[in-house]
Amino acid sequence: MSDVSASSAPAGWEHVYSGKVRDLYTSPEHPGRMLVVASDRISAFDQVLEPPVPGKGETLTALTLWWFGRLAGIRNHLVDDRGAVPAEVRGRAMLVRTLRMHPIECVVRGYLTGSGWREYQRSRSVCGVPLPDGLRDGDRLPEPIYTPAFKAELGQHDENIDFARTVELVGEETAAELRRASLEVFGQASEIAEQRGLLLADTKFEFGVDDEGRLVLGDEVLTSDSSRYWDAEAHASGRVESFDKQAVRDWMAERWDGTGTPPPLAPEVVERTTARYRELLARLTG
Ligand code: ATP
Ligand code: MG
Repeated sequence: MSDVSASSAPAGWEHVYSGKVRDLYTSPEHPGRMLVVASDRISAFDQVLEPPVPGKGETLTALTLWWFGRLAGIRNHLVDDRGAVPAEVRGRAMLVRTLRMHPIECVVRGYLTGSGWREYQRSRSVCGVPLPDGLRDGDRLPEPIYTPAFKAELGQHDENIDFARTVELVGEETAAELRRASLEVFGQASEIAEQRGLLLADTKFEFGVDDEGRLVLGDEVLTSDSSRYWDAEAHASGRVESFDKQAVRDWMAERWDGTGTPPPLAPEVVERTTARYRELLARLTG
């Protein structure tokens, strides 16, 4: 995908992979480590959109670093050696331990919306988790639910799966561990967010295994790319004020039928997204 990022590898680092948003590099000087650089690219509906959102990579990185510093009792992939992060990507890069990633997107939902809401309307359940009747879009769930997805290859859509399918993919013990750890982190994060007047509606984690066989929380965490955050006060009065890429999703949904190349984002959508991401960072960390 990214010959561009490959050619702009930081000095001493080799490009190994680019996802929709992040570029990964390794270096013979840092065995077992990876440099994860968050770009300003934005994706929605599994598409990378144009143009990029200025400052987004830095905001995502700052959010992830802040959350890793708050979460207790959960091992994460961060290597605390900021000196090893090359100057040209400082602020939007993390040095991490290379993990063997589980092919599962560990989604946790505290509120019903998005694809969860659509599935609920058809089946009264989400990913095999039965829910009470009468819930509306945006309602708080009786308790947070774990609704994993199978991580698709680049360019494919992730597929919502139930717990039984997760067991087939990663085994009983790991499946249970992923669910337990995801719900635990979600619980901690929701509480911290609520103290700041924010609701964590849903989020997605990725876990991997380190070379000692231990489960480690990887990727980005609790960012506005991987999560839905809502203003608590607005929610209480029946409105949705979100600090994530909902504005982009809504704008796209009105203008793109899902085939061919998506239209470039209007400047006001890009500006609004930058502002929302910045405000989330300020409200959480300020
Ligand atoms: P895809 O993984 O399909 O490319 P994506 O578009 O979400 O999805 P990005 O988030 O842009 O990808 O790239 C980050 C990639 O790095 C992901 O594939 C993620 O699984 C992987 N990753 C994150 N942390 C680690 C780690 N510690 N070790 C190895 N891989 C990691
Ligand atoms: Mg990702």
